[in-house]
Amino acid sequence: MPHRSMNVSGVEVTPLCDAVGPMGPAISRPLAEMFAGSGLPDEPWVLHFHCYLLRDAAGRLTLVDTGIGGEQSPASSWAPVPGVLTGELAAAGVTPAEIGTVVLTHLHSDHASGAVADGAPVFENARYVVQQAELDAARGSVLDEIVSVIKDRLHVVEGDAEIVPGVRVRLAPGHTPGHQIVRVGDVAMTGDLVHHPVQLANPEIRYLYDDDGETAARTRAEVLAELGAERAVIATSHFSEPFLRL
Ligand SMILES: [Zn+2]
Ligand SMILES: [Zn+2]
Repeated sequence: MPHRSMNVSGVEVTPLCDAVGPMGPAISRPLAEMFAGSGLPDEPWVLHFHCYLLRDAAGRLTLVDTGIGGEQSPASSWAPVPGVLTGELAAAGVTPAEIGTVVLTHLHSDHASGAVADGAPVFENARYVVQQAELDAARGSVLDEIVSVIKDRLHVVEGDAEIVPGVRVRLAPGHTPGHQIVRVGDVAMTGDLVHHPVQLANPEIRYLYDDDGETAARTRAEVLAELGAERAVIATSHFSEPFLRL
């Protein structure tokens, strides 16, 4: 359990560090290429892969993202598999069967793959919250090996929705068509809205693997401006430190 939890509005927010490592050679590029115009060095990028556990006062357990999955997961072509999400959950005293709701910020393989192991849902009693636009755009191994396995448990939303009392999702498109962020109190779990701290100072700095770089930059600027005005805490997927107060 390398990262510490925080409490907000009666909800304990625990970062789960699923993996740390560089991307594999299939898609790895130096930081300077991943974030063109950022001034970052021509060096490899070592990312953390974070999921978040929310435990509210009523004991409800919600998981935000499911990480990179096992040795054979759809993320194995590029991410440092296997992820250790279930070990991180165990360290927090939680079994997968206790999770009531899983929010998938989007259907990239490093966020959705941990939902399935050996062809079966890992969180056997959970519903899986995903945006309609994300589902519509899903294809490839994530669709075939992940979405198809959890399809009877999907809770499909469009736009903004309260998915558990006190927990809201919000559509934040660009990185993917149906990318969503999650709010609880003044904490925002931002998925892949931002990938590197350099984008906080300048949201115009694009990430090489945003689906739609222009929409992603516009969404990033809008959402960060709103969160910044609130002095909200962002809980990021890929920064080295999970929490950062704007
Ligand atoms: Zn971490
Ligand atoms: Zn992504």
